[in-house]
Amino acid sequence: MIVKVTLDIALGKDFDYTVPPEWAPMIEVGSRVKVPFGNRTLLGTATEVIDAPPRPGLKPILKVLGSRSLITPQVLALARWMAEYYCCPVETALKTALPVSVRREKADFRRRLTVAPAGGAELPPLTPRQKEIFHLIEERGRIPLRELLRLTGCTADTVRRLEAKGAVRITREAEERDPYAAERFVPTKPLELNAEQQAALESIMAGVAAARPGPLNETGPVFLLYGVTGSGKTEVYLQAIARALEQGKGAIVLVPEISLTPQTIERFKARFSSGPIQTEVAVLHSHLSHGERHDQWHRIRSGRARIVIGARSAVFAPVESLGLIIVDEEHERSYKQEEAPRYHARDVAVVRGRLEGAAVALGSATPSLESFYNARRGKYTLLELPRRIDDRKLPHVRVVDMRRERGEGRPNRIFSQLLLRAIEKRLEQREQAILFLNRRGFAPIVQCPLCGYVARCSECSVALTYHRAKEKLCCHLCGRVEEPPQVCPNPQCRNPAIRYAGAGTQRVEETLRRLFPKARVQRMDSDILQRKEDYRRILGDFRTGKIDILVGTQMIAKGLHFPRVTLVGIVNADMSLHRPDFRAAERTFQLLTQVSGRAGRGDVEGEVYIQAFTPFHPAIQYARRHDYLSFYEEEVEFRRQLRYPPFTRIALLTLRGLNEDKVRFAIEHLRRRLAEKLKDLEDLEIAGPAPAPILRIRGFYRHQLVLKAVRMTRLSRRLAQALKAFPMPEGLELTVDVDPADLGG
Ligand code: ADP
Ligand code: ZN
Repeated sequence: MIVKVTLDIALGKDFDYTVPPEWAPMIEVGSRVKVPFGNRTLLGTATEVIDAPPRPGLKPILKVLGSRSLITPQVLALARWMAEYYCCPVETALKTALPVSVRREKADFRRRLTVAPAGGAELPPLTPRQKEIFHLIEERGRIPLRELLRLTGCTADTVRRLEAKGAVRITREAEERDPYAAERFVPTKPLELNAEQQAALESIMAGVAAARPGPLNETGPVFLLYGVTGSGKTEVYLQAIARALEQGKGAIVLVPEISLTPQTIERFKARFSSGPIQTEVAVLHSHLSHGERHDQWHRIRSGRARIVIGARSAVFAPVESLGLIIVDEEHERSYKQEEAPRYHARDVAVVRGRLEGAAVALGSATPSLESFYNARRGKYTLLELPRRIDDRKLPHVRVVDMRRERGEGRPNRIFSQLLLRAIEKRLEQREQAILFLNRRGFAPIVQCPLCGYVARCSECSVALTYHRAKEKLCCHLCGRVEEPPQVCPNPQCRNPAIRYAGAGTQRVEETLRRLFPKARVQRMDSDILQRKEDYRRILGDFRTGKIDILVGTQMIAKGLHFPRVTLVGIVNADMSLHRPDFRAAERTFQLLTQVSGRAGRGDVEGEVYIQAFTPFHPAIQYARRHDYLSFYEEEVEFRRQLRYPPFTRIALLTLRGLNEDKVRFAIEHLRRRLAEKLKDLEDLEIAGPAPAPILRIRGFYRHQLVLKAVRMTRLSRRLAQALKAFPMPEGLELTVDVDPADLGG
């Protein structure tokens, strides 16, 4: 037997090894193996097992790790596709598909000592104390030694004596690290669906039945479930999964990391924790420890958990006979990984569905332009849930023109009079409010009003933000912290009256406290959330009414359901609108819609105030009217004319280095080389080179090329070849981002 192995270090090719007879029964595609390489031993993944006589000169593998391969052949094929499409080494793609927690050689279950009755016919004579301990063990059936010691207060010696007498057995057993083990879930029953939900469910199930593995140049059954927040999408997912399980199939549910709240997990666990089609639900997210992730992975691989719910990387979960993949909030940019492989989990999900013969359902209240376009031209099937459950009304949205507010010499420029009055009213009526501002810190600009000096990061081309709590200036890009200047540092100026301009969440919080001294105000942003539990605690306090006003960044924009919130204020809607990115309007529309969706989820109708300096921008006006379709029509026309996605695909090439001249010279050279090598691609357009919108980060200068093509698959392949042959000067680093989430960084 010969096995082809991709080593964990990126060498860009596979190596052949022989398989000694003792390992032959265990080896399969996807097995982790230990192999000799030069004078080292390395770990790798078996990618092919060939029944052939060994060639002379081949070395044998040293070991197969674990009893089962950890990656299914389909996921292996997915990783290969990913390497090609996203222009990265196969090794890098495999590393992402197989997390480090399960890849390591010593990755294993934790073993712990467990005590159980020995089960002999007759009990040996015991002292009263020993009897007491024995009865506890008997009652529990089996009990971890540590817990037994804690409960009884006895020592390990006492238990050992019980063992010596033949009363109990002490064994080492694999213990699963499950962060949800202690929680009990009240089982829920499927709700009776309304007509639209039922129709959506039937379509999806027809897709599950029809899906077959097939070539990647055709799409399998993919559904776009377009439904406003609260229209019952999740209930459709739950019932579709239940039916897939009945047919012996598994499911993966992707949700953005930020919506992977206890609320969401509970809904899935509760539905499948009992009943005829019971299964375990594995949860994968970035806050798991290595051990927890390892154990979740094995629950999936062993088939005990047929449902996986998780963030981006759960798209690689080794679920067998996968029937359905759900991507909730498919428009979320957190599905895009910002380091190699720079994959988009939604798009990878669609490809995996095709490889596995599974149906894929993408859900959103504000679908990405790409997905809606795909639905419009028939590549995906559009399913609509146009109404909220119980016909609960969407909130009433007002746009406040902040240009007018400014002229009247108000004491604060953060809140309009309208918004202030609305907050006051909520406080009087004992209802809750959410204020949203996507900028943390106190003041984003520290400026001298006399000479114009602005405090900037010495390593990045951005201004420093003043943080009140720490009394420090912070760079939000590199994390650098500096002392705030007491006087203007400009030697010709030395003005002592430095100004802290603009507003971040800290200033919003402080201003609210000053204006409404009786209100209970709580801020929620990444500065506040130092520990895992903080998030849950704050949301818990808000739910139980211990907080009147919640101020926060995008962390509070999504997926939360608080029936007593009747007011949402968006402090500054312009902030995301004027970013140098072609998706700025789309992002703003999505954000405004999502944040607005937090209002009026109970019986009282909600109210939303959007404060803006450009109140008539289409993204703001269509969001005000909850009019996704008109926004889509207008925005898609703009994309068509400028040849942006979805009409083209983009590859963003960024070259970075410490010496700017060198970077500029090399990227110009690269542009000429690519233009030459790819000149037969008639649909290719190369723009740039140009400095990145943020030129410098952590001391590195960055210049970019933007490649646009109608078909990315062909471009990726040719680009990878051309880049391999390009002599990259020392000290420079090139990244290729296919389908970048953002051109504004
Ligand atoms: P979405 O995922 O679109 O935001 P959900 O599935 O969370 O919507 O549904 C919103 C609320 O309506 C939830 O409390 C859910 O339990 C309830 N709900 C969903 N479908 C139905 C139904 N058919 N009948 C009654 N209540 C429903
Ligand atoms: Zn910096």
